[in-house]
Amino acid sequence: MEGGCHCGSIRFRVSGNFSWLGACYCVDCRKVSGTPYTVFACYDKQSVELLRGAPKEYASSKNVRRAFCADCSSPFAYRYVDMPGEEQNMYIPVGAFDDPAKLAPRQHIWVSQKLPWVHIHDDLPQRER
Ligand SMILES: [Zn+2]
Ligand SMILES: [Zn+2]
Repeated sequence: MEGGCHCGSIRFRVSGNFSWLGACYCVDCRKVSGTPYTVFACYDKQSVELLRGAPKEYASSKNVRRAFCADCSSPFAYRYVDMPGEEQNMYIPVGAFDDPAKLAPRQHIWVSQKLPWVHIHDDLPQRER
């Protein structure tokens, strides 16, 4: 499955399936995206191939790096640093894929920071953090 940023400078391909897929309502995701929540699909780093471009990285918190296109600002990926168990993981916002129709979230996280006017209308698991 392929994807890329809005301007086309960055193109990538993932092989294999995601290991996690969920919607995050945390304040950091809200600020960085400018939207109330972000849906991420997690892939093993080895299965994500950068076809074109050089994403820029931003330290959004001590243990999190967020990569984005320096030309159009589209988010590309989220990864942890110095976080045991997360070394292999790369979280890609599903909107970056060309066809994210099948990437519906399987859970909701950081609902403790969810805006009160965002309503969850499903029975998927919810986590406070
Ligand atoms: Zn771009
Ligand atoms: Zn978040």
